[in-house]
Amino acid sequence: MFVRTVERVFQPIEHLFYVLVVKQISRLLDHIDPLSYRIEGTLFRKILQVTLFPFFLIASLVIGFHLVRNGYTSRTFIATIGMYLVFGAIWMPLERLIPFSRKWLKSPDGSTDVMLLFGNKFWGDWITKPLQLATIALVVQQISPTIGQSIWPSALPPVVQVFLLLVINDFFRYWYHRWMHENSFMWRWHAVHHSSERLYWFNGSRVHPLEGMVHGFLWAIPLAFVKAPVEIVFVTYLLSRTIGRFQHTNMDVILGPFDYIFSSPKNHRYHHSKNVQEGNTNYGGDVILWDHLFGTFYLPKGKQPSDDIGLGDVENYPKSFAGLMLAPFNHHRFQKPSQASVQVPIPQSAE
Ligand SMILES: [Zn+2]
Ligand SMILES: [Zn+2]
Repeated sequence: MFVRTVERVFQPIEHLFYVLVVKQISRLLDHIDPLSYRIEGTLFRKILQVTLFPFFLIASLVIGFHLVRNGYTSRTFIATIGMYLVFGAIWMPLERLIPFSRKWLKSPDGSTDVMLLFGNKFWGDWITKPLQLATIALVVQQISPTIGQSIWPSALPPVVQVFLLLVINDFFRYWYHRWMHENSFMWRWHAVHHSSERLYWFNGSRVHPLEGMVHGFLWAIPLAFVKAPVEIVFVTYLLSRTIGRFQHTNMDVILGPFDYIFSSPKNHRYHHSKNVQEGNTNYGGDVILWDHLFGTFYLPKGKQPSDDIGLGDVENYPKSFAGLMLAPFNHHRFQKPSQASVQVPIPQSAE
């Protein structure tokens, strides 16, 4: 009853957004489809597939260091938003041009994802950030002054520092993510992320705000301890966003050796598998190093991940914004009786 009432409030907004924005963008992008079929099997497509990931990785680093050359200012903030609007405007048509799955090009969930993004932004600004700052100020700063500054290797080349911070941060993300899959109480929050039946550049941010809140702490606490320079933190964050967009992209990119280094579209598609054995692998957020070390890396050779993804252990899972917000509180209602137990991971060998 309560769920229905909340849905009644949000559904008209969601529908309006779908009709006015998502559907219109989708119509524009439809024009790319004939070209997409025409370039299938061509050298041009292959070049795009191989070069796009390294190009955007390097672009994020170059633009990032440029934006903080005079420190982090309000200009940096505005330019960063501008950069992601431009990147998004490039990625959207590219997903149409070289899609991994044509099924994933349909966008019935587009407006829900946008509402989740804004909902998380609102929650993040008013709830998560003040809590993070209070935690850092009250707890971490009391302990860290003695150990922080001296251990961060500021003399290393800035790019090396960025990758070092990326790897350190991902250690915490790895274990948090793995915990969410292995613990039934945590899974009910993370199931929102896995409820998506397609992957595309935008829905990496499809997370329940309470999951995002804990993740925010995981990002803030190690940062406060290691005390990396603000420029390094900023560029690492920027790079992480780009990797996150590629992790979920529907572009049929070929990463080659990068599939063994980063959390890539290919290995993350296995992570979204309906098959629990495949899904409980590849937990890395930015890099895949910790999966190699802790035995959860999964990338079988000569095989392609399926595009039939989503929650394998539930039925009638909500699809609306309000339904997803409330789903963790009613998770037991959606579980199939045979699979109402904790998801137990089965570590996979690398090959
Ligand atoms: Zn997951
Ligand atoms: Zn994901």
